[in-house]
Amino acid sequence: MATALSVADFLKILFDTGDETIPVGANLVAQWLEGLYAWLISFGRLNALLLFSGLVFVLYGLKNVFTYLSAVEISVIRTNVIRDLRNALFHKAMRLPMSYYDRTRKGDVLSRFSSDMVEYEENVLNSVQQLLVAVISMVLYLAMLFYLSVKLTLFVMCMLPIVAFVISGLSRRLKRQSKEVQEKNSFLISLTDETIGGLKVIKSYTAIDFSNRRFREFNRDYTRKHIAMERRICAASPVSDFLGNVIVIGILLFGAWLVFAGDQGLSSELFISYVMLFVLMIPPAKELTTAISQIKKGRACADRIEAFLVEEEEKNQVIETTQATQTDNAVELRHVGFAYKPGVPVLTDINLNIPRGSTVALVGGSGSGKSTIVDLICRYYDYSEGEILFDGMPIRSMSLDSLRSCIGVVAQDTLLFNDTVLGNIAFGRPDATVDEIKEAAKAAQAHDFIVQLPNGYDTNLGEGGSLISGGQRQRISIARALLRNPELLILDEATSALDTEAERLLQQTLDHVLEGRTAIVIAHRLSTVRNADRIVVLDAGHIVESGTHDELMALGGRYRQLVTLQSFD
Ligand code: ADP
Ligand code: MG
Repeated sequence: MATALSVADFLKILFDTGDETIPVGANLVAQWLEGLYAWLISFGRLNALLLFSGLVFVLYGLKNVFTYLSAVEISVIRTNVIRDLRNALFHKAMRLPMSYYDRTRKGDVLSRFSSDMVEYEENVLNSVQQLLVAVISMVLYLAMLFYLSVKLTLFVMCMLPIVAFVISGLSRRLKRQSKEVQEKNSFLISLTDETIGGLKVIKSYTAIDFSNRRFREFNRDYTRKHIAMERRICAASPVSDFLGNVIVIGILLFGAWLVFAGDQGLSSELFISYVMLFVLMIPPAKELTTAISQIKKGRACADRIEAFLVEEEEKNQVIETTQATQTDNAVELRHVGFAYKPGVPVLTDINLNIPRGSTVALVGGSGSGKSTIVDLICRYYDYSEGEILFDGMPIRSMSLDSLRSCIGVVAQDTLLFNDTVLGNIAFGRPDATVDEIKEAAKAAQAHDFIVQLPNGYDTNLGEGGSLISGGQRQRISIARALLRNPELLILDEATSALDTEAERLLQQTLDHVLEGRTAIVIAHRLSTVRNADRIVVLDAGHIVESGTHDELMALGGRYRQLVTLQSFD
């Protein structure tokens, strides 16, 4: 309303000499304003000027205060929507099964958090507001147009389907294009991530040019797709502008014909007002079509975000709890079979008992399925055949958390966080006291080197624990596992990444840690599993032998073959 108060109009009337007639009102607002100005003038010219100035001051002040408040309010809502969505994505990312990440590129996941989110916010959330404003102003204008001339407005309405057809044709492919662009973009993120992660390899193979070329190729492809999409979006506003003006021409012709034919309802003044009012409707119409195409573009991102959010999560407790059977075995595998990809069995008919307090070693060539057995016990993957029992309970009847809280895993590539030593050890048990943490560190024989670090237990380990040696990292990771005092300890190639000397030292620690514990030890170097209570030999997903070191050596089968091969190292 404040914008409708026209200073120019008012001055024209204010300094009016009196003989000119007030121009015929263009529309209702103008008529109303003329009344207002006339009323102001009745207070005398000076007072009227002061009153008018005051009115403009107050109204424009209010207008801008409200503009500010509504903009803030909308931003707050928008940013909060994004915050909630981001939280939901993060939570989801952690609850998805490992198999999801086997078939999805990392960049694809990362881009949902970054570019998809930005596009969604910019295109959908912003445009919805724009769309609402445009629709409301168009409805108001249309109502006024109807008031001025029903016939002309009906004529305009007849032309609208044509406009709608053209506009929808323009934005029809936008969503698909936008989806393609986002997919390409996620690929670029993957590529960048891989490159930075593998920089040492790239440099050592002097493959910078090769990587560069590959990146440029994808980048060019991405840019081409992006430009094609932008072309369409940029067309929205001019096309609707043009169509609006085509309709104006239509109105001019049809209206003039009505006026000339002496139509009662339409005087020439009214006709001019009508055309002027219609022209005012074109900018919101442009905004509307732009908003629609932006939303189409953003919808592709919304779909990608939604698709991620509805992905099936890890199955938590699919069978109702059955009574646990009494058993001496901490873990029992009965006829377990599993395949990552249907038709390519990785494990076949695995039978394995791990009595409480004993250490079972899994050995076998690389790719024979050792880690997969561990993955199944931890239920990172669901086995397709047979049954795995934990303390006599089928693990599929336990909740994932209760199962995993009984297991401590130390793997080859330890995950250390950019946090202090304390934080890294307490990771699996945030409630642990400092004394408990130190106890665990001592058991893992990590205490001695930790206290020699610059800040002792408060030393930050750097990204990925890069500030300490491999053997030290493994000790911290063993301390982390021990702190949880797990019923089952799993060491999957825990010493494989170390040099012989560090391995020998860590092995001493492990022998000490393993005493009296239920444990599965997977080791590539067979000298390290010699002392296990039982050694199970895997070959291509089958258990081929099992027994103590001496028994298997006497048997002279696969194990002996492996040992002989390694004794040449
Ligand atoms: P090991 O630990 O004995 O070296 P794994 O259990 O890691 O062997 O792997 C056993 C087989 O399963 C290998 O042939 C490997 O290629 C395959 N495999 C392992 N992980 C996956 C996975 N996430 N998706 C598909 N196949 C896999
Ligand atoms: Mg492995």
